[in-house]
Amino acid sequence: MSEKLHLTGFQANELADFVQTIGEPKYRAKQIFKGLHARRLLDFNEMTDLPKAFREKLIDTATATTLKVESRYVSIDGTRRFLMKTHDNFPVETVFIPTENRDTICFSSQSGCPLKCDFCLTAKLGLLRNLTAGEIVEQIIIVLNDVYGTGVETPHGTNLVAMGAGEPFLNFENLIKALEIMSDAEGLFIVPNRVTVSTAGIVPKIYEFARLEKRPNLAISLSAPSDELRDELMPINKRWNIGELFQAAKEYEKTLRRGERFTFEYVLLGGVNDSAEQACALANLLGEYDLQRVKINLIPHNSAEPLEYRPPDTEQVERFKKILESKGVSAYIRRPRGRDIYAACGQLAAMKG
Ligand code: SAH
Repeated sequence: MSEKLHLTGFQANELADFVQTIGEPKYRAKQIFKGLHARRLLDFNEMTDLPKAFREKLIDTATATTLKVESRYVSIDGTRRFLMKTHDNFPVETVFIPTENRDTICFSSQSGCPLKCDFCLTAKLGLLRNLTAGEIVEQIIIVLNDVYGTGVETPHGTNLVAMGAGEPFLNFENLIKALEIMSDAEGLFIVPNRVTVSTAGIVPKIYEFARLEKRPNLAISLSAPSDELRDELMPINKRWNIGELFQAAKEYEKTLRRGERFTFEYVLLGGVNDSAEQACALANLLGEYDLQRVKINLIPHNSAEPLEYRPPDTEQVERFKKILESKGVSAYIRRPRGRDIYAACGQLAAMKG
């Protein structure tokens, strides 16, 4: 199976080349693309608009699906966590987060993660491997089909966040390719402004991202207002420190279009980074680099064994937010979703049960 071409990760023009190499007319590529991404069919045999002989030829050389759903967990708040396996047996996790008038799918860019953020459970897996563009796209198709039925039109738009397992900017090419495939109007049609990519701060890639013509929204995980603390919590800071990160953020800010903003995520860890002084230091930092079109997403820590951190109590979280606001910084508290099924931020570690 692994040697077969995974057509779910092919752009429309790549599919066109592919059908030509197997001696078929170009328009077949359009049919396949629609079959995969608009009708969300993961079995060529269901593409009955293709002649049977052609379907058989396809099945011989290619595949539409390489991921297997191993288990599926549903939270009391409606969040669903999918634990999948790649063909070579690596875990992939995807989370469906419903809200009243929109759906969000949180997908993974890597199996495991190479970054060693001290407060994150995924870090304990280490990097297993990068996911292919096809494996990224397939996560979204599998989730939408599970929630709404194969190919059924979704009642409202789908937002995507690259906030599952992995560091998206360490799998940049595959990520961008997957997003391009998903934005195609002939397919899933999830346009870049419905997508947010989160990075722990791979600085050169922030510059590269800023230069992309059609790019999604950006979130940067910060979680500490000083190098000393950030070195400890997020070792990637030893490679690119806060100064370098904020310079890149400033360059990125300059490329924002009207009305656009970007986000800093700040995981709140009780007694570690949640003091009034640290809130002030964070606001000052934004001032120092003259970052204006930014909002802060405060994420109270989602605890999980064996992580030793705990979330601050509610009043402390509110206080942190108020201090930021009093200094003119927009701040929001991210409500945890799917904590009971290990689906919340930082809890994805291929847990069973
Ligand atoms: N590697 C990327 C993508 C992951 S996004 C990044 O770091 O941005 C996951 C988000 O959840 C990050 O902002 C991360 O800091 C945060 N997070 C990690 N562990 C967490 C935990 N236990 N509780 C709450 N948030 C956590």
